[in-house]
Amino acid sequence: MSAPIIYHMSMDLDSSHSQMAAAWVHRFAEFVALPPCEVACEFRAVESTLRQKLRDFLGKADMVSVSRDVLWTMSTLKLPDVPKLVVFCSAASDLAKKAKAAHPYALLGIPNGCLSVIYQHEPSVAWHELFHLLGAEDCYRRNSPHSQTEPTCGHKNCVMQYAPSLGLVGDPPFICEANVNHIRGLWGVAGGQRSED
Ligand SMILES: [Zn+2]
Ligand SMILES: [Zn+2]
Repeated sequence: MSAPIIYHMSMDLDSSHSQMAAAWVHRFAEFVALPPCEVACEFRAVESTLRQKLRDFLGKADMVSVSRDVLWTMSTLKLPDVPKLVVFCSAASDLAKKAKAAHPYALLGIPNGCLSVIYQHEPSVAWHELFHLLGAEDCYRRNSPHSQTEPTCGHKNCVMQYAPSLGLVGDPPFICEANVNHIRGLWGVAGGQRSED
C-alpha cells in the first residue's frame, strides 16, 4: 500500500495553539517513520480553497453528515487513496460538542477511519488519534473506559490506552506489539513481526 497521506488543520484556535498542534503532527511523522512502526507518512497542512470547503462541512449540524461530506471532499483530491484528516479544535467549539455528543466515550478526540477531531491538547492524545488513522486499535474496553484499569494490552505505558499522557507514554510514545504488527501489516512494511520488550 502507498504511504498514508494525512491532512491536518486547526479550527477556532489561537496561533500558538495551532503551532503547537502542528508541531505534534510533525513529531509523530518523525517517530512513526522509525522502528518499530517504520511507516513513512506524508503530512500536509490544509490550505486555501480546501480549507474553506472543509470548514464549511465541519460547521454542519451533525457528525454523520460531517463525516460523509469530509470524506467526499477528500475523495475529490484525486489521490491514490482517500487521505485522512485530523482537525484540532477547542474543547468549547461546536465541532467538539458535536463529536462528544456522537461518541459519548470519546472524551479526547474521535477516530473515524478518515477523520479525527482532537479537542484535548496533549501531545500523547494527538499521537493516540494519529495512530488510529494508521489503523491502531484502542487498548481499553470501549464500554468501560472510565475506570482506571490497566491497558488491555498489559503495557502501562501504551499510547493506545484511555486518556494517555506524555508522562506515562514518553516521547517517542510506547505502542504495544499487537498494534505495531497491525500497523506494519496494514501499510505493507516488510519484515513482519518484531520483538520488543
Ligand atoms: Zn482511541
Ligand atoms: Zn496497547
